[in-house]
Amino acid sequence: MIAVDEKGFYGNFGGAYIPEMLHPNIEELRDNYERIVAEPDFQAQFKSLLKDYVGRPTPLFYAQRLSEKYGAKIYLKREDLCHTGAHKVNNTIGQIILAKKLGKKRIIAETGAGQHGVATATVCALMGMDCTVYMGKHDMERQRPNVERMRILGAKVVPATSGSQTLKDATNEAMRQWINNPVDTHYIIGSVVGPHPYPEMVARFQSVISEEIKAQLLEKEGRENPDLVIACVGGGSNAAGAFYHYYNTPEVRLIAVEAAGLGVFSGKSAATTALGKPGILHGSKTLLMQTEDGQVTEPYSISAGLDYPGIGPVHAHLFETGRGEFVGVEDEDAMLAGIEVSRLEGIIPAIETAHAFAALNQVKYKSDDVIVINLSGRGDKDLDTYIKWGNY
Ligand SMILES: *Cc1c(COP(=O)(O)O)cnc(C)c1O
Repeated sequence: MIAVDEKGFYGNFGGAYIPEMLHPNIEELRDNYERIVAEPDFQAQFKSLLKDYVGRPTPLFYAQRLSEKYGAKIYLKREDLCHTGAHKVNNTIGQIILAKKLGKKRIIAETGAGQHGVATATVCALMGMDCTVYMGKHDMERQRPNVERMRILGAKVVPATSGSQTLKDATNEAMRQWINNPVDTHYIIGSVVGPHPYPEMVARFQSVISEEIKAQLLEKEGRENPDLVIACVGGGSNAAGAFYHYYNTPEVRLIAVEAAGLGVFSGKSAATTALGKPGILHGSKTLLMQTEDGQVTEPYSISAGLDYPGIGPVHAHLFETGRGEFVGVEDEDAMLAGIEVSRLEGIIPAIETAHAFAALNQVKYKSDDVIVINLSGRGDKDLDTYIKWGNY
C-alpha cells in the first residue's frame, strides 16, 4: 500500500476540503472507520459476504489466444464475474457493514451511469436499509435500465436537476443531503475520490483484488508478482484495488488507462493526467480538467464509467511520482479491443474495461512478460453502445 498521511494526503494530493457543515459527518467516519474495519467481526462479515454473495475469489484466467496474439502471458482478473457484473460491489459491501456498525439507518449514494447506484441498491436490499440514489436527470434518461434496476431493488432514484444534470451534479446533491441528515445517514461514495478517509477506505475494500492476484499468480506461475498490471481509471477504484499490494514492489509496472475520447486534444476526452492541473474536486485535492480560471471542464468518453473530469488522489500521486504509467485510449481503439477480446476469449468486456485491453497496443513489454489485466466489468450494460458503434 501507499501510506496516506494523517490528513489524508498521498504526497501532494488528497485531504478533506469540505464545507464547515460537513465536518461532523467526516469526523465521525474518520474517527471510527479504522477501528471498525480492524475488528474481527467486521472482517468475518466482509469476507463471508464477499465469498458467498459476491462470489469471490474471482478467477484469474489465463487468456491463451490473447497471449498468443500479443506475445506475452496475459491473465485476466475476472471482476466481471462479481455479483452485479463489476468490481463496485466489493466497496458497497464494505461500506454497508460499516454503516450498520455506525448505527446508520439510511444510505445515500451518487451515480453516473448507474453501476454504483445498482451496487448500492443491491447491498441496501440485502441489509434492509433505506436507499436513495442521486442521479443527474440527463443520465437518468440515458441509462434507463439501471434506473429501473435500482427501483426494482427498492431504492429511490432522485434526479439532480442543476448544472449539466450529470455525475458532478448528482454528487453535489448527495453531499447536500448528507449535510442535512448527519445523524442517521451514511453516504456511500463509489470510487477512490472524495474527502479523506473515502479514497483510502474505498481502496482498502477493493484491495481484495490484488490480494487474490498474488495468491493466484503464485499458484499458476510460481511467483506473486506479474511484470505489468493494467487497469482502466475513471475515478480509479478498480485500478487502486488491482495495484494496492504492488505499490511498494517497483519491479511491477502499474499501467493506468484513461479515456482519451475522440483524441486527447480534441476537446472531447477524459484524459485527466494529460490535460489536468491540480485543483479541488469533490472534497479532495487532485488533478482535474479545468479551464484557465479553474472551472471544471465537461469530460467526454464513450464509456460512462470513465467520463469523469478528475482522478482519485492516489492516482494523481502515482502520476506525479512516475510510479504509475498513464496511457490514454481513444473511443475507437477501445471499441476495437472490446470486439477483439469477445472474439478471442469469449468474454464481452464493459467498454470501460475495453480501454485497458487497448493499452496492450500502446505499452512496451518483453515477450513472455506476465501481464495481469483487471477485467473490471462485463459488457451487458453496454450492448446498446456496441450495437450503435456497429463495426463487428
Ligand atoms: C464504474 C466502472 C469503472 C470506473 O470506475 P473506477 O472507480 O475507476 O474503477 C470501470 N469499469 C467498470 C466496469 C465500471 O463499472
